[in-house]
Amino acid sequence: MMPDDSTPTDPFAIPPDTMGMTADQMRRLGHRVVDMVVNRFERRNAESVITTGDAVDLTARLGGDLPEAPVDPDATLDLMAQVVMQNMQHGDHPRYFARVPGPASFAAILGDWMGTGFNAICASWGGGSGPAVVETTVCAWIAQMLGLPDRTEGVLLSGGSLGNFTGFCVARSEIGRGVAYLTDQTHSSLPRNLRQMGLSGDEIRILPSDDALRMSADTLRNAIADDIAAGRRPMMVVATAGSTNTGATDPLDAIADICTEHGMWMHVDGAYGAPAAITDQGRAVLRGMERADSVVLDPHKWFFQPYDLGLCLVTRPGALERCFSMNPEYLRDVQATGGQVNYGNRSLELSRRSRALKLWMSLRTYGAQAFRDAVARGIELAEFTEAHLRSQPDTWEVITPAQLGVVCFAHRGSDAADHAARAARLSESGFATLSSTMLKDRSALRLCTINPLTTREDILQTLDRLAAPL
Ligand SMILES: *Cc1c(COP(=O)(O)O)cnc(C)c1O
Repeated sequence: MMPDDSTPTDPFAIPPDTMGMTADQMRRLGHRVVDMVVNRFERRNAESVITTGDAVDLTARLGGDLPEAPVDPDATLDLMAQVVMQNMQHGDHPRYFARVPGPASFAAILGDWMGTGFNAICASWGGGSGPAVVETTVCAWIAQMLGLPDRTEGVLLSGGSLGNFTGFCVARSEIGRGVAYLTDQTHSSLPRNLRQMGLSGDEIRILPSDDALRMSADTLRNAIADDIAAGRRPMMVVATAGSTNTGATDPLDAIADICTEHGMWMHVDGAYGAPAAITDQGRAVLRGMERADSVVLDPHKWFFQPYDLGLCLVTRPGALERCFSMNPEYLRDVQATGGQVNYGNRSLELSRRSRALKLWMSLRTYGAQAFRDAVARGIELAEFTEAHLRSQPDTWEVITPAQLGVVCFAHRGSDAADHAARAARLSESGFATLSSTMLKDRSALRLCTINPLTTREDILQTLDRLAAPL
């Protein structure tokens, strides 16, 4: 397939593909991929929500010897569709209620495909000024939708884990080393981040959450006072806006007051819940988030984007660059001067795909109001679920109310093992999937309802099947 070395008569008559595929092959296979994706979208409702394969079986079908000779790409696409994609969770299925769904929208997928197809890079200004302006634009649009200050700057990353890590690095670079305050409800990737940043055990303070599973401002104040008395320096409070477990939000305004008082950095992990702030109802719950120094959200969760996409927003201008800038001699001719952003200077990533394209494409295609409506629907579906659970008090007990699209509940007479068995039975049936969790000492079932395609009927049928005798 490789071209020979003879000089072509037409200087442009080279195979269009680096590795020698013809334009006809590229078109045919490319169109086939689009058809496979759209066909699946059309019948998504009828597919199994989650399937976990057997490692030996999957390795036998997908592994094998290194292919020295070419393999038919149609056969590989079929294998991908029939085996790889069937053995995973379908987080965009309307009855996927487990952990956090991933209800990606098609316009966003198109943006991602374009970026991949053109191999768009967003590292230096000179090498990617178009993608850089798109990234700056979507960061500003999202900051505006969330109600964050105009001065907010951002960087797109692979997800919440790397987004929070980036925010933490900026906090330490601005404030200096010291103690970080979290709760027992903080996502477990956050203490991991702090440990890997080199914070000592004394510098990672995990506070007990209150009865509503939120950070208590009093507990926080006391912990800070204890640390100061012991000669330690408070650095940052890590507040959660929408916890993964229950959707609960820490008292952001009170935390902002405490951070101001002590010259601490306020970081908000809104990986799950921050997008709720684009709705009126969510904005009220998340009041105080606009006072944060850094906010993280996961557009691959509640902003209808395909994996992977996290966003770290920082409200102190220049702080991202003060933390991550490098000016090596081999980037001299592409570095920005005056106003243009070198995204390679805003996180640990240098060569990076243009993750902004999918957000830009989808915000333009659907418009901001469609996003507000879709997020509001997720909030409303959890409230509908709570009301239905309360209407059947002999069967269900609500453990935590509907909060930003999450509701936790118990089946009367079921213990943790029964809850796990009910959840497993449902997942194995392929009809729907949800999580079982522990809230302090209570075992619970948990529904996360952020897919706008979910219907009330989907929820009612899921609860009926859950309640069926074991
Ligand atoms: C999902 C989540 C994370 C981790 O984000 P990833 O995108 O999975 O890396 C962190 N915090 C919260 C609250 C989350 O829900």
